[in-house]
Amino acid sequence: YVDANVIQVGQDGPRPQILVLLYDLTNIRRIEQMQLDFVGNVSHELKTPVTAIKGFAETMIQKTDMDPKDRAEFIKIIYKESTRLNQLIQDILELSKLDETRKDEPVNVTVKPVVADILQELKPDIAARHLEVSVNGKEDVALKIDPVQFRQIMKNLITNAIFYNRDAGKIAVNFANGKNNVHISVVDTGIGLKEEEQSRIFERFYRVDKARSYNNGGTGLGLSIVSGIVNNYGGKLSVTSQYGVGSTFNLKLPKA
Ligand code: ADP
Repeated sequence: YVDANVIQVGQDGPRPQILVLLYDLTNIRRIEQMQLDFVGNVSHELKTPVTAIKGFAETMIQKTDMDPKDRAEFIKIIYKESTRLNQLIQDILELSKLDETRKDEPVNVTVKPVVADILQELKPDIAARHLEVSVNGKEDVALKIDPVQFRQIMKNLITNAIFYNRDAGKIAVNFANGKNNVHISVVDTGIGLKEEEQSRIFERFYRVDKARSYNNGGTGLGLSIVSGIVNNYGGKLSVTSQYGVGSTFNLKLPKA
């Protein structure tokens, strides 16, 4: 985009000169396109559960003499799909809050009890897959962060380490104090990621295996929320992974 103006300067009277301003709109266009893509993705993602809920409910209304077993099955599907819808809406709201670069008041948060609490909550999923979990870190490791957002980060990473693991696999949650930052890693012995996938998993709605994510109730937004929060605190999130062997998610966040 070029903007040209004729201006008059110089001691010898008016002399026409041209001021040319060059604007690089590539980035603005890219952001606009990303926003359009996001709206398109959101509509598509919302439609899937809504269509299922509507379809099954309609059938139940029409078929008054339905077999109770089928009926129970349909209700289960409606429940599952509305849970997904709820999670999607929550995640989308969370993302839009991050866009406002709103920062909650950071306080000192000790890592160990948060991790313990999340593992307690996820115990049924860990047991169902016969996973072995280890937590390695001292009691005094603490961050300066919003506690709700820190919990969100850790819950997303640990949930992924469970769902993208193999049966009877391992998970390690490690944390330690650095000079200015706390270093946290979540390590799994799961399905791993190919190199081209590693750079894409932080994108909104990106999923390597759509069916697998869907079955786990995943929205494809978890890691983009994690990365948004981490960026807001000036932290760092990265992944190293070996396909078929496992992944390590590394976090660096400001120390308390
Ligand atoms: P989802 O809701 O699908 O889990 P995320 O944003 O949390 O969404 O993750 C995006 C995608 O990255 C997942 O669908 C999965 O394919 C991949 N992924 C995330 N965590 C792991 C992991 N620990 N091991 C292997 N793949 C992972």
